[in-house]
Amino acid sequence: MSNTKNAVYPGSYDPVTNGHIDIIERGLRIFDHITVAVLTNPEKQPLFTLDERLEMIHQCFNKNPRIKVDAFEGLLVDYVDRKGIHTVVRGLRAISDFEVEFQMALMNRRINREVETIFLVPSVCYSFLSSRLVKEIYRLGGSIQQMVPGVVDQRLKEKFHSPKKHPALTEKR
Ligand code: ADP
Repeated sequence: MSNTKNAVYPGSYDPVTNGHIDIIERGLRIFDHITVAVLTNPEKQPLFTLDERLEMIHQCFNKNPRIKVDAFEGLLVDYVDRKGIHTVVRGLRAISDFEVEFQMALMNRRINREVETIFLVPSVCYSFLSSRLVKEIYRLGGSIQQMVPGVVDQRLKEKFHSPKKHPALTEKR
């Protein structure tokens, strides 16, 4: 059996923020490899396509061999089983995250007893940050420079100026 420590960090990443990156960097102190697993949820209409979300994460890590970027659909427990990686990393920002994350971790374990969830806490400066808030601030004309990597800032500008604007970006600015 390999001694390599691997973990999966699942999420929507619509788009990836400095908060996610903070968690990934902390995770790399514990794990040898982290698979950033981007969820495709047919019920949600994300601002960025799956390919755009994957590409932005790739660009942030500049081919770091310890970071893998992948996509998945359906149950996380099925995905981690297929991958043979039973450790899941999640970020905890505030008490509001705790309730949802606690429930999800216990449910995942109930479905598959092998799955363990590890919670990491971000730097205080990112503890208020979410992808949803970034999109909201951008839409209302605020600066998001300290909140997202340069590539995401650029992509948001492109989306905003695209003739076929996503409903999430249609008001104000
Ligand atoms: P969701 O899974 O709710 O769509 P995201 O894709 O935004 O959420 O996030 C994936 C994971 O990253 C979740 O565990 C979430 O709590 C965590 N996360 C998101 N933003 C931050 C942040 N600013 N600091 C720490 N963790 C975060």
